[in-house]
Amino acid sequence: MSLNVIDGRQLAERLVEEMAEEVKTRTALGYQRPGLAVVLVGEDPASAIYVRNKIRTAEKAGLHSVVTHLDASCSQQALDDIVTDLNERDDIDGILVQLPLPAHLSEERIINLITPEKDVDGFHPMNVGQLATGQAYLVPCTPLGCLEILKREVGDLSGKHAVVVGRSNIVGKPMASMLLQANCTVTVVHSKTVDAVSLCKQADILVAAVGVPELLDSAWVKPGAVVLDVGINAIEKDGKRKLVGDVNFADVADICKAITPVPGGIGPMTIACLIKNTLVAAKQRGVKQPVVKAR
Ligand code: NDP
Repeated sequence: MSLNVIDGRQLAERLVEEMAEEVKTRTALGYQRPGLAVVLVGEDPASAIYVRNKIRTAEKAGLHSVVTHLDASCSQQALDDIVTDLNERDDIDGILVQLPLPAHLSEERIINLITPEKDVDGFHPMNVGQLATGQAYLVPCTPLGCLEILKREVGDLSGKHAVVVGRSNIVGKPMASMLLQANCTVTVVHSKTVDAVSLCKQADILVAAVGVPELLDSAWVKPGAVVLDVGINAIEKDGKRKLVGDVNFADVADICKAITPVPGGIGPMTIACLIKNTLVAAKQRGVKQPVVKAR
């Protein structure tokens, strides 16, 4: 079978270019430039890289962006005050607090504090509920990126059997909801599932969001399946640090129809979808540029 390695970087670039055009058109019509605020707490190097990439992509799309960097020892009150201020700012359409937070800060409290209209991560219970009831508005960026890829690679998803490995609130569960909404028959596999391998082997679409390096090999994959590898795992190989997914790419490549690589697959699409959500939020808010009075 000829292998189709899905180029997430290229797809993401295209999506960002399309959004940049849309931003230009909207600002020409008098709407304010969409604004994204990112809050980073502490010095975690991976989080710092994610934030830098998000801001860089926001700028490419023509968004206005604001980064607030707080010390790792900041108080819950200080973080709450920043989020409350961003909730009220007219120039900000989307707010993202980079997770994980240091252990003394409550992620749940912050997720609940961000106003649902600006919740571009799609983690607020109101947005989770809207997704679950088929009224999706702002949905988590990683599964949204997966869905964008599937729309392009598979087209109509109706009747396909999709298996999602993992049931986290940020990837597995929203992914399952979105696939169900797209008329797939959905199976969710987790650490307590009995015979996960044979369930995965039945999938037309297999989404791996586990966090275990190269767990899924060819025994898990049906010939001709489309495989989306969400996992990002840093491992040591031949004395070098390397990023791998949750799928054993080399072992699976020969039998699947298409597969996302790690890196360069779902990661860039996740960031592009953050920009997409900010644009959705901006359109919903519809804030116009301030009118400058002639003297
Ligand atoms: P979590 O740790 O929150 O969830 C992992 C899930 O995998 C859990 O539901 C767990 O089951 C399940 N699981 C663990 N081991 C097994 C197993 N042996 N068989 C079946 N299921 C198993 O991870 P996340 O969802 O946050 O992230 C998953 C991966 O995706 C990570 O590598 C993460 O770095 C990556 N990621 C990538 C993103 C991107 O932009 N590309 C964005 C977000 C995450 P149980 O619930 O029973 O414990």
